Amino acid sequence: MARINDHYLKLRASYLFSETGRRTREFQAAHPDAKLIRLGIGDVTRPLSDAVIRAMHEAVDEMAKPETFRGYPPETGWDFLVDAIIRHDYGERGIKLTADEIVVSDGAKSDTGNIQEIFGPDCVVALSDPVYPAYLDVTVMGGRAGSADASGRYDRIVYLPCTAENNFQPRIPDRPVDLIFLCYPNNPTGAVLTRAALKTWVDFAREQGAVILYDAAYEAYIRDPAIPHSIYEIEGAREVAIEFRSFSKTAGFTGTRCAYTVVPKELQGRSATGEPVSINALWVRRQSTKFNGVAYVIQRAAAATYTPEGRKQVTAVVDYYMENARIIREGLEAAGLTVYGARNAPYIWVKTPGRLSSWDFFDKLLNEAHVVGTPGAGFGPSGEGYFRLTAFGGRASTEEAVDRIKTRLAR
Ligand code: PLP
Repeated sequence: MARINDHYLKLRASYLFSETGRRTREFQAAHPDAKLIRLGIGDVTRPLSDAVIRAMHEAVDEMAKPETFRGYPPETGWDFLVDAIIRHDYGERGIKLTADEIVVSDGAKSDTGNIQEIFGPDCVVALSDPVYPAYLDVTVMGGRAGSADASGRYDRIVYLPCTAENNFQPRIPDRPVDLIFLCYPNNPTGAVLTRAALKTWVDFAREQGAVILYDAAYEAYIRDPAIPHSIYEIEGAREVAIEFRSFSKTAGFTGTRCAYTVVPKELQGRSATGEPVSINALWVRRQSTKFNGVAYVIQRAAAATYTPEGRKQVTAVVDYYMENARIIREGLEAAGLTVYGARNAPYIWVKTPGRLSSWDFFDKLLNEAHVVGTPGAGFGPSGEGYFRLTAFGGRASTEEAVDRIKTRLAR
């Protein structure tokens, strides 16, 4: 029998969504007439915009003719998409990037996971707590987590607790780390980092020789003009940060799959002998060896989000979700709950009332309001006592969920 990667055996069962699913199914079976509203999902629900659909249709037609048929895409992305990214996502914010610093991919999930592969097995990883669960699991799979104790904490990971007490701002670690996952706007807390706070991370990474893995999948949801959209808005970040972006939440591409990762040329790691090595070169090598690029049709679709019409349409969808976020935030506050996030992010992070645990509040909401959310404890120990709702539902069901919470929970 072939030897397996034993690190996979150290993964904790993906308990969160299987358990919320189980409890929801059981409730529905016992109460077949109850009309459940699901505000736990992290997936979008609005369809792709017209400009995107039109671009896809046109690209499909191109694939049908010998003169315009396209085979394997360029490994790091078609120039029409990379140029649009450079011009709009970065150029308009005064950030200069070159085409060879962008690598187009099928998702921020795969990129934030795969990136660890180009770093040494001994690298110490810092993660916020609560955290987007994939960062933790890939750290375990890569053998960088160590062993878990009974509470599920791994002994080689440096956890950065984020709670109301520190305003959901992680403290700079008190010991050396090599790779730091930062996600802003944050899933699950909906928190953002100010320019000053992000600068302390960049400065820390520069002092330590650490690399920041900056997941900006939700940057389109930032409303406050003072909040940075890209880590490269911070001086010195090009030498220490990789940035992950995605069309999933920006333009409804969760089922369409397109994203990109920025690896600046200045960013260097070191070899076993201490020689500096270009991280950009390693990532391009990794992707061109193991990934054959995003489909032409999908890259055309992504590029359409940058046309004047496409931008207007995708912005309108993000605005729609942010209006949901406002409705949930204000409704829950009116119900006497303490609510975080939701101002620059599609996530609403609710303090559970009284001393209810995350799971008890899940059950209460399910039983009394027939609303399904996600217990904060499922995102890490510091998520205990919190609860996540998302703004990705339809307007009518979002409003109804809020009304039910207001009337049934406040009774
Ligand atoms: N990063 C964060 C923080 C997310 O919450 C998600 C999806 O929920 C992703 C990445 C996944 O993005 P993609 O669809 O591009 O793989």
